[in-house]
Amino acid sequence: MLNIPTVTLNDGTWFPELGLGTYNLRGEEGIDAIVAAISSGYRLLDTAVNYENEREVGEAVRRSDVERDDLLVVSKIPGRHHGFDEAVDSIQGSLGLLGLDRIDLQLIHWPNPSVGKYVDTWRGMIEARERGLVRSIGVSNFTEAMLTELIDETGVTPAVNQVELHPYFPQEALRAFHAEHGIRTESWSPLARRSELLTEQLLQELAVVHDVTPTQVVLRWHTQLGSTPIPKSADPDRQRENADVFGFTLTDDQVAVISGLERGRLWDGDPDTHEEM
Ligand code: NAP
Repeated sequence: MLNIPTVTLNDGTWFPELGLGTYNLRGEEGIDAIVAAISSGYRLLDTAVNYENEREVGEAVRRSDVERDDLLVVSKIPGRHHGFDEAVDSIQGSLGLLGLDRIDLQLIHWPNPSVGKYVDTWRGMIEARERGLVRSIGVSNFTEAMLTELIDETGVTPAVNQVELHPYFPQEALRAFHAEHGIRTESWSPLARRSELLTEQLLQELAVVHDVTPTQVVLRWHTQLGSTPIPKSADPDRQRENADVFGFTLTDDQVAVISGLERGRLWDGDPDTHEEM
């Protein structure tokens, strides 16, 4: 079994350096895929109300032979559940679907600034943490200005900000802000889902140098940037490949040259304008 290292979040809890994305993992096949990932060594499982698979994730937790306290379940509050009471209710709903008595890390999925309720939602999450419904709280797709607003309004700094991050969009400024404020970066679509990233010549060459695959080069790049990637794979062999990235180290120059593939966001997901309910 692979041993995925962990870091400590700003609230003192542990957090893996790499996790499993579960978007589109549904039904019995989805449960089998998640159980397989846990058997390979994955401990962080990333779900969301809007993935409509919290039931499957909870079932995989129960079917796996790993202790509940050694797994870390992440869920996310959707845009339609923004607000103080709505956030607490949303978390209760997630707990019901998961069939668990605690969510390890709860995120706000998108800030939806035109709705104007992400600070209220954050206060609801603080309340949920006080009630023991969730262990850690964080956000997703928040900008520096939005993070600053949350911190200034509530005095509570998110433990994590999960954002689009891959070699085409390395998010240098946001990562620097996170480092300054003790916020852990998490990378969504770390393989730049269904783009041509994995066929880039640079990555092919670095894969030969390190005797690994281009995918492993990309995922190691994330971890060396200090971000936790959550690659999604339904396939147990690819899951193992994706998690087996801690046995080699890219040089600083190699990390920099991979970041040089930058070209911007791939899916128009600018949090100032893109909203999801
Ligand atoms: P991704 O992880 O970058 O890419 C997933 C795709 O890559 C799948 O088609 C997968 O196919 C394929 N793949 C995985 N490992 C591979 C390998 N070793 N070799 C070749 N292909 C491979 O994209 P993602 O699913 O969009 O992002 C990951 C997770 O981030 C999601 O599942 C979700 O949990 C989270 N997410 C969050 C947000 C947000 O707003 N917070 C947004 C998007 C995603 P197979 O399954 O067939 O292997």
